[in-house]
Amino acid sequence: MSFSRREFIGTAVVGSLAVNLPAQQAAGKRPIIVCANNGYPYLDAGFEFLKSGGDTLDAALRVVKGPEDDANDDSVGLGGLPNEEGVVELDACCMHGPTRRAGSVGGVRNIKNVSLVAKAVMQHTGHVMLVGEGAERFAVAQSFPRENLLTEHSRKIWLLWKEYHSTDDWWGPGLADPQWKPPGSAELWEKRISTLSEMTASVGIEPQRRGSAIRKVLFPPTGTIHCSALNEKGEISGCTTTSGLAYKLPGRVGDSPIIGAGCYTDQEVGSAGATGSGEENIKVAGAHTIVENMRRGMSPQEAGMDTLKRIVRNYNNDMNKLRFMDMTYYILRKDGAYAGVSLWEGYSPSPWEDPQPTPHRIAVHDGTRRAEKTVALFKGYSQEFPPFPRVPEELLAPLKAR
Ligand code: ASP
Repeated sequence: MSFSRREFIGTAVVGSLAVNLPAQQAAGKRPIIVCANNGYPYLDAGFEFLKSGGDTLDAALRVVKGPEDDANDDSVGLGGLPNEEGVVELDACCMHGPTRRAGSVGGVRNIKNVSLVAKAVMQHTGHVMLVGEGAERFAVAQSFPRENLLTEHSRKIWLLWKEYHSTDDWWGPGLADPQWKPPGSAELWEKRISTLSEMTASVGIEPQRRGSAIRKVLFPPTGTIHCSALNEKGEISGCTTTSGLAYKLPGRVGDSPIIGAGCYTDQEVGSAGATGSGEENIKVAGAHTIVENMRRGMSPQEAGMDTLKRIVRNYNNDMNKLRFMDMTYYILRKDGAYAGVSLWEGYSPSPWEDPQPTPHRIAVHDGTRRAEKTVALFKGYSQEFPPFPRVPEELLAPLKAR
């Protein structure tokens, strides 16, 4: 889909005026849990726990532990895509509204449930944040098992990335660099896909998983889960956990463990969390900005949209750059009103996988479990520029084979 500057400006204005409150905006029932869509399968258990009087943070942690334990979710915990050296490094944080406490860990290796380690930092130390080796040693002292987090499948995708990107990696220049230029022509992309499809076979990726592996090399995925929970007493908490940006520089920490960026909860106002381009979210202190916006009277949706526009402003509305980033905010106000907002409508389709784009969603449980599309600032889908080339059928056939 093409997107002209004129359309962009029009959409941005529409975004700012989109105040015909959808269902998401209305003050909801309590108790309620909201989370990123990968938490959907775990919402029933979290909600039952919350309804039966469980603590709000523990309810949220129950939800995010699901993807952390799931080896097939390559964005969180076990099976997360590794850093550029093939090592899985995890980040997480949590905030407990009723006691106004916070805990966080960054760059943790070998420990799967880092959200629970963040809670242990909150409960068992006088600190808020531990990182790296110290955080790992603390976790082991708290009886968290050390384990290998790199699954065979994630290792093979990393290997493919490593072999393919011998000269092109995260050493910059980054999007924020004034010298940065959008990569490649359509022909170049076609060549890249052709090379990669040969390489998937040689590193031993199963045919049915090759298409998605190629996509993960060409467009390093982000992926995270945030969850906020509110109970009948009006207590509210939140947490966020992630393996961060795939193939990141070792030691890179994103927004997820940063209190105020990846998650922020204020017992007086509400809770918010983020998934998406962590570097951009840190620069606008996303979750904190949203909560403060709500404190000043904005609805959850308005609070989120205002924060997204700060990201846009950081790039002077340059769509050649904004197209490559995305951000989704999950917002829960203390009265139960909530919103899921995102920079773009979702992820763009690819020629060899699902031809339909994947919309961003917020998963919700307030007695009824559901996943709702987010309200997007821009029409269209992230990472679709440069456009995928027309790939010859003979190249696509093995990628489509399931
Ligand atoms: N925000 C995470 C990070 O930058 C990644 C994500 O949410 O997908 O580490």
